[in-house]
Amino acid sequence: MPHYAVLADHTPDICPGSNAKTRARAMESAGPDGMQKIADDLELSYILEPQHLDPTHRVIAVVDAPSIEAVNQYVFDTGLFQWNTVETFALTPISEMMAKLSDTPVVFDCRGPTAPCARTARTDAWQPSHHAARHPGAEPPEHARRTPADHGP
Ligand SMILES: [Zn+2]
Repeated sequence: MPHYAVLADHTPDICPGSNAKTRARAMESAGPDGMQKIADDLELSYILEPQHLDPTHRVIAVVDAPSIEAVNQYVFDTGLFQWNTVETFALTPISEMMAKLSDTPVVFDCRGPTAPCARTARTDAWQPSHHAARHPGAEPPEHARRTPADHGP
């Protein structure tokens, strides 16, 4: 079954550690037994059971579940959404993601205004060697044709 991540966070004022109403609700549905029963009912198992990210007010879990809908139902049924902002994510191992990249066309090439070499070019555009080295045979852009005097004091 696919793996999913659940990230939850809340503010200190509604933390079950400090807020009586939230604590009562959390003990009702998100205690250890309650969460496990809800997980079992949804055929969801833990790869990483819910972990508190000390000392923040955040929680992370990684689950094995039949679908993202089952994960979202887990968030509703446990009540986690009532005192947390919860995000759920489908997970893809980096090794699989990297293998897919070779089949994916690039969107930004090295000539775009946000390309790393373009950002570098802004700071050392007065160095003709920069553009020539990174873009052999290409016409230098306007900013690369300026001299240090053009940039002012
Ligand atoms: Zn908290």
